[in-house]
Amino acid sequence: MSGSRRAFVLGGAALLCGCAGTIHDLPAAGSAQISSARDEIAARDNPQRRSLSDAEVGAVVRRVHARLHGPAHAMCQEIGQGPCEWILRISRSREVNASASGRGSITINAGIVEMARSDDEVALVVGHEMAHHAANHIARTRSNTEIGGAVGAVIAAGALVAAAASGVAFSGRGNERVARDSQAIGQSLGRLAFSRDQEREADHLSAMALHRAGYDLATARGFMVTLARLSGRSSSSWLDTHPAGPERLAHYDAGMAEILAGHAQPLRRMRPA
Ligand SMILES: [Zn+2]
Repeated sequence: MSGSRRAFVLGGAALLCGCAGTIHDLPAAGSAQISSARDEIAARDNPQRRSLSDAEVGAVVRRVHARLHGPAHAMCQEIGQGPCEWILRISRSREVNASASGRGSITINAGIVEMARSDDEVALVVGHEMAHHAANHIARTRSNTEIGGAVGAVIAAGALVAAAASGVAFSGRGNERVARDSQAIGQSLGRLAFSRDQEREADHLSAMALHRAGYDLATARGFMVTLARLSGRSSSSWLDTHPAGPERLAHYDAGMAEILAGHAQPLRRMRPA
């Protein structure tokens, strides 16, 4: 595919797909906040891992879950979008990772607990995975990926018609390749763009649940800094599956300011599904 045609497909798909997948209009961070988050991350020492037994890891996660579950469950029911019955699984993996999958399944790796410096930080991760379910992100990601693919295919057809009108010839095989490429790009953009917004939303909803459970949001945010240090990235591009560290931290801070001021509500500024 030529450079100009690829740019056309990418631009069209981005315009049409980067607009949904969350249930909120999220609090925004400005470039000054992102820049100061970048400075803070750069100034922080490299995170240190604690060595914990599986039993110690289990005790921390169960303690956090016991305290967070009630407020998070109530918030999930207020939102009324996704599954609010969760199955928590603790993985022995020391990789710093956690996930939400299926209908209510949550996995927290031991690596999260070893890298966290407090229960507040562990709670931020557990709440984040609960929030992915509460906001129904898994079902939304599936349908948005399909929408993204359809948009990509439509734009490819438009590009071919435009090229034919301007007298440019394509072989049949070339046309098929354009259609397949565009569909793949559309699906990828749909999924990745939504994923980035959904990660921010999961952070924000997690902070709301933590606040209700009496955790300290300023302490919990330490894990955002740790993740940013681990990822080693200082800027983001459109195609990142997750927000880069400084942007994610700055958006968390914007949400934290709303929550501490008493302005944040699970259903405020609700977007249509
Ligand atoms: Zn996430």
